[in-house]
Amino acid sequence: AIKVDGLSKTFRKHRALNNVSLTVDRGEMVALIGASGSGKSTLIRLISGLERGDKTGAASQAGNSGRIQVLGSPVQDGGQLNRSIRNLRARIGVIFQQFNLVNRLSLLTNVVLGVLGRIPAWRGTLGLFTREEKMLAMEALRRVGMDQYAGQRASTLSGGQQQRAAIARALMQGAEVLLADEPIASLDPESARRVMENMARINREDGITIVVSLHQVAYAMRYCPRTVALRAGEVVYDGPSEALTPSFLRELYGADSEELV
Ligand code: ATP
Ligand code: MG
Repeated sequence: AIKVDGLSKTFRKHRALNNVSLTVDRGEMVALIGASGSGKSTLIRLISGLERGDKTGAASQAGNSGRIQVLGSPVQDGGQLNRSIRNLRARIGVIFQQFNLVNRLSLLTNVVLGVLGRIPAWRGTLGLFTREEKMLAMEALRRVGMDQYAGQRASTLSGGQQQRAAIARALMQGAEVLLADEPIASLDPESARRVMENMARINREDGITIVVSLHQVAYAMRYCPRTVALRAGEVVYDGPSEALTPSFLRELYGADSEELV
């Protein structure tokens, strides 16, 4: 479902990603771990096509190179963003650590907007949804155990509830791939567990391919069969999560491994 090939990304002189290659098969749930600054967010932004590659010519000079394919379509090639990325983006759900919802809108509206993405926002603001859209959104909220909050403003929900709603929105969107960048980083353990469980469930039941970046290896070991570990922009491990014992983490990260347990 995802193919990254020789990807590098340089900000000014700092190389955030260095020759990263990885393949994620359809239906996998893969954790992306690494200490702060290792390149997790950069990789996720590039895969999702949110980050614009530099224009041709300038591309290699800017250290922007490599190839990314999602669901068989190119996202970027040598720093050149695919021009028809809009259609592809509709098939990719993205969840960030925070600010995934529009605060002043109800949960239901937020979820419906997932599928309306390209329809004028005023339809959402005015609540002009079809009955079917509402039913689908309610069903998506039910899947993550959030249907009883449908009418509540997003701003009144806890962090974990907002993240579960963001998962519902990805379901509503019909996303085939879900990229989540530290979705549980600011949550208490119980909320984090519920968010991870909901992701594992849509992976299992809906076959949604998931890449989730995490700071804590324990969650990777518990929910993701496979982990890709980044250090200073390079893949230093790609394999079964269960191999990531404390001693192996120390081998990979030295003192930085403290950050990951
Ligand atoms: P964290 O765990 O703190 O979220 P991360 O693994 O997500 O870290 P990135 O945010 O991908 O790391 O950053 C990788 C490197 O690239 C860092 O050194 C960061 O300072 C740098 N970087 C990221 N985005 C930019 C940017 N827009 N401009 C300049 N440098 C950037
Ligand atoms: Mg990050």
